[in-house]
Amino acid sequence: MSDWKMVIGLEVHSELATNTKLFCSCRNKFGGEPNTNCCPVCTGMPGALPVLNKKAIEYAIKMGLAVGCTINNYSVFERKNYFYPDLSKAYQISQLEYPLCVGGGLEIEVEGKKKFINLDRIHVEEDAGKLIHDNTGTMIDYNRGGVPLIEIVSKPDISSAEEAVAYLEKLRETLLYVEVSDCKMQEGSIRFDVNLSLHKEGEPLGTRTEMKNLNSFRAVSRAIKYEAKRQAEVLNSGGKVIQETRRWDDEAGKTYSMRTKEDSQDYRYFPDPDLVPIETSDEYIDSIRKTLPKLPQERIIEYQKLGLTEQDAKLITTERKNADYFEAVVSLFNEPKFVCNWICSEIFKKLNSSEEIDTDIQVSAENLAKLLKLYKNNTINQAVARQLFDEMWKSDFDPEVAVNERGLAQMNDTTDLEKILQKIIEDNPKATAELKAGNQKTMAFFIGQTMKATAGKANPKLVGELLQKLIN
Ligand SMILES: [Zn+2]
Repeated sequence: MSDWKMVIGLEVHSELATNTKLFCSCRNKFGGEPNTNCCPVCTGMPGALPVLNKKAIEYAIKMGLAVGCTINNYSVFERKNYFYPDLSKAYQISQLEYPLCVGGGLEIEVEGKKKFINLDRIHVEEDAGKLIHDNTGTMIDYNRGGVPLIEIVSKPDISSAEEAVAYLEKLRETLLYVEVSDCKMQEGSIRFDVNLSLHKEGEPLGTRTEMKNLNSFRAVSRAIKYEAKRQAEVLNSGGKVIQETRRWDDEAGKTYSMRTKEDSQDYRYFPDPDLVPIETSDEYIDSIRKTLPKLPQERIIEYQKLGLTEQDAKLITTERKNADYFEAVVSLFNEPKFVCNWICSEIFKKLNSSEEIDTDIQVSAENLAKLLKLYKNNTINQAVARQLFDEMWKSDFDPEVAVNERGLAQMNDTTDLEKILQKIIEDNPKATAELKAGNQKTMAFFIGQTMKATAGKANPKLVGELLQKLIN
């Protein structure tokens, strides 16, 4: 394996989150009773005519702009002709010669090394139905047929499983930022095809194989490692790699030959006579450009200027909902670092421990800003802040009201605290002696006792200071 170099290109299929399908008014929705969400158009009945969904084009352009593509003013839908039971029309409407977006790319980072992965193109096409296999046989559900997809095709710039995953993560992050796809891998909203070949430095590229329809980053990573090893073994033993499509079996951790790989001419592409070419004016493209949100790379720079470390800035921008939330809280309570720390610890803890995959932040930005203000200005201590936050996560409320109503404000009154501490010292001569002797561990005991006596409201910092004063 050692002197073989991997050459990897990725094709990413991402379903667009439009309300309706690409060429008909059927709902674009995951699941449902099989074959209840299709019509003569998406199943290709004779005489049915497709009508293009403008929103799908808008979404595809939006993604294209976000990754620096050139948007073609003229692009064409073509028929890709092949038979497979999940494709009721026996052709898929796709794009070949004149795709909607070309060029562009993304910067990735693996082990501190930055690399730019170029894109070849992004084109628009329709999804196929789904085959469902069980022990009685195979069934077909056409609900997914005609759902709009973009296919994002990279140049073969990727050279390891780690780079492939970094690229896919970045791509998914961008799709979510521009809100054109929900990217739910468990629902197949985003799927990956891997093209892989091996060659030696300075020698021409090798023959590639394609692994289709992988549905997780882990599967992509494992499939790449397996397939590279398999090809190396074939080549090392003097054999030839065959150009073919291979199926990745996630359970077995192996790839299997499916069919020899076709070239595009095998599909007899031709322009769909039922659809006019798509013409997009510069004005139209610019109007979409104006709707682009601030992307992660821009926010990372901005957040560092607010005092966040690069690492924190990256962490908080990985998902747009977190970055938007951070900005909303900071706009109400201008302590970026403080807010970031709370989000990265308390909120991420909650999100990560949730059983649901796409949990939303359960506390409004307004209420978190209020809570952090109370904590920062010492009205409440950390324990109370955490306690309140826990309750707010279950059912959001205004923490200012709760602190007043429930008398949770921190005891900052020295005289009251001194009295309480005096009593604890008198009641615990042994611990006091230990503390005097310099055993700092007993400090925790005293703070605990004080918290007990004050129902958790004492200012722990103040308690420490007063204790030192009293025992000396
Ligand atoms: Zn339909």
